[in-house]
Amino acid sequence: MSAKPELTILLAAPRGFCAGVVRAIDIVEKALEHYGQPVYVRHEIVHNRYVVEDLKRKGAIFVEELDEIPDDHRPVIFSAHGVPKSVPAEATSRHMFYLDATCPLVSKVHMEAARHHEDGHEIVLIGHAGHPEVVGTMGQLPEGAITLVETVEDARRFMPRDAAKLAYITQTTLSVDDTSEIITVLLERFPAISAPHKEDICYATTNRQEVVREIAHHCEVMLVVGAPNSSNSQRLVEVALKSGARDAMLVQRASELDWSRIGRPERVGITAGASAPEILVEEVADAFRERFEVTTETVQTRTESVSFKLPRQLRQAAAE
Ligand code: SF4
Repeated sequence: MSAKPELTILLAAPRGFCAGVVRAIDIVEKALEHYGQPVYVRHEIVHNRYVVEDLKRKGAIFVEELDEIPDDHRPVIFSAHGVPKSVPAEATSRHMFYLDATCPLVSKVHMEAARHHEDGHEIVLIGHAGHPEVVGTMGQLPEGAITLVETVEDARRFMPRDAAKLAYITQTTLSVDDTSEIITVLLERFPAISAPHKEDICYATTNRQEVVREIAHHCEVMLVVGAPNSSNSQRLVEVALKSGARDAMLVQRASELDWSRIGRPERVGITAGASAPEILVEEVADAFRERFEVTTETVQTRTESVSFKLPRQLRQAAAE
């Protein structure tokens, strides 16, 4: 008989990498292949230290701003979160060759913002202050064109210039439930407000939250593999707690598992944020296997088949 306590791991599916993250990492790797080292990347290409360290080893250099790049002749890549318009403008003025790894679903929100602005709408952006995606989206338009709303209270306080000329957009990685509460307040106060044609919260965020909602109430502990600065990973922790998990923790690596806090559960759920590679999920599951007699069950609520094309320059380079 095994001396280890028994444990069931419920593995969430879908989890981990989304199509935008796969594309962004691919862009850096292909750029290194085609243009050699170094390739500069403005901001963490995706919010995951393991991914960033791996790309650094392959020859990528990460900077926060373009003025940290000493050589204008090397390629620079913009991260999946998107950038304010001032960034490509600066790169162009320096005659830099840049590749934009902005997720197409973030670009879609940028285009919506531009369209609303052209139509004379004041824009409410539902999102988290300081997140690079929010900085990038707000930076698509002149100052004052977009007002950030983070909470239901913000939505109650917001005073538009003209309630008849109002639109809202959202960050792609928000909590589906919290956002719908904010939208309800905006719709009650401003019935004429224009909504996105299709939900801005992306398919990957929605699907990862959906399966966590399904699993969480069956688990004593829900583990989310992801980085503290990853918005969609943080939201998965909140969703797990709201959906009935006794405890939920965000961990970057197995070494961060707090065994005294985890205790002796019978059921643990594991998921991963959209920027966390599967190898880290396996590492966390293996750490449990060392301490428990583990049975693993996958709970699949959706299958995903989304993929995005690489930028034109890289497709052309590959064809040559
Ligand atoms: S989380 Fe969604 S918006 Fe963000 S990179 Fe992935 S697919 Fe794109």
